[in-house]
Order: sequence, then C-alpha cells, then structure tokens
Amino acid sequence: MPTYFRVPFNDKNHAKALGARWCLDHELWYAPDGFPNVDAALAEHWPRITPLPPVEHFPVEDRAFGSSPRIAVDLIPTTCWYNSVRSCVEHDDWKRISLGVKLRAGRKCELCGTPANREQDIHLEAYERFDYLDGTQVLKRLVCACSRCHHAIHYDRAEALNEEQAAREHLRLTNGWDDAALDQHLRKANALWKKRSAQQWELDLSIIENAGISVQLPEANKRAERAVHFHRVRPPGSTLDEFLAVLGFPE
Ligand SMILES: [Zn+2]
Repeated sequence: MPTYFRVPFNDKNHAKALGARWCLDHELWYAPDGFPNVDAALAEHWPRITPLPPVEHFPVEDRAFGSSPRIAVDLIPTTCWYNSVRSCVEHDDWKRISLGVKLRAGRKCELCGTPANREQDIHLEAYERFDYLDGTQVLKRLVCACSRCHHAIHYDRAEALNEEQAAREHLRLTNGWDDAALDQHLRKANALWKKRSAQQWELDLSIIENAGISVQLPEANKRAERAVHFHRVRPPGSTLDEFLAVLGFPE
C-alpha cells in the first residue's frame, strides 16, 4: 500500500523532485511501494494522509438541469460572486466533492465529452450549476466540465482575460451554432445577468448538506460585502489589469 501525502498545489514540483508520484484516482501525491527513502523524504515536508472517500451521490440533485444547449453561457450575477460551494465547505470536503463529480462522469467532460489532456492544457473541474428562484440562488447540480467548457460558460471572465475568441470557437463547435445563434445566446445571457445582478440573493446549498457535508453559509452582511455592485463591472475600454484591480480578483 503506497503512502499518500497532503502536498499543497504550490509544492508539487518539490514533491515530484523528491520522487513522489501522482495518483489520479485519489488526486494525491504518494510514495510508491518499495521506496522507503522517498517516503521518508516526503514525510520530512508534508503529513501523511489516508485518501479521502469521494462523494459521488447528492440525493436531491437534478442532473438533467440545464442540459440544453450542451454548453449554456451562465453568467453569475455580480451580487453572487465569491459565494460558491468551494468557499462554503472545508477544503477536504471540496476535494471529495470535486473528485466524486469527476469519477462518476468517467473522467470526461459531461458537456463536450473530452477527457483531461495535459499537453493541450485541458483539465477537468466541478462546475456548480445554479438556478435563481424567488430571491434565492439554488445549487441544482454539479457538472464535470473541462476547462474549455468552464471557460466558455463563464464567458464574462473569458472576456476579461481577452480569451473570448477561444470561448466563442468552443461554443460554436460544441453546440453546432453559427455566429448569429451564438450572438443571440450571448445577448440573452447578458440580459439575464443584468437583471439578476440588480438584486441580492440568498444562497441554497441544500444538495450539498443533504449529502451529509457540512456547509457554512456566509452571513448576509459578509455576502453583501463580497458582492460586486453592478456599476463596478468592467467599464468599456478599461484594461484587464484595471478591471481585475477594481474587482479585487483573488488571483
Ligand atoms: Zn468540455
């Protein structure tokens, strides 16, 4: 049985240099069997851990929610920014959730069907799909999405990063759209985003809680503090750096 280690993402090259290998099933670095020197070297830097059991089943999830078109542009209202499952659960629980979402999808994007591909810089992520009902942002499902789809879904972020051409191309190809169909979809998504960004939303993550994972919802005042008000969204002509600085993007 190999030993696994809790190696922070930024330490991965260090761990690799010490002989650690990457376990895709558990998404953890490990010391292979029969290499006690590697085990000892890793243990000097990082704690050993038991692999976390993935969470694949969310009892009240609606896995058919929003399944047409294949990739729908989903612009998160500015008043909901920074409120996500990831920010409301423990780090290890998020890891168990995202791992389970990838495993149950057979490690392929549920939207375009692609597997992860390191050479092409395509990785898989858990995409949180919400509905907006009567003043509440409700988590409906978790989708295993490749980075290309995820990028296209949050088209405004792709635009902010000046990567909208790649996003457009991916949307056109995967959904079988021409430019006119794509532009119409984008106009609709924008109109919905503007409307939703004009109000405050409660957050409902009950599908996570129903899977037995504890959720710490942000208090209303914290949420309001984090929310980005509509008038602060990227003014036309501002540079990317100016835009991100105004928003206080964490990365
Ligand atoms: Zn995809």
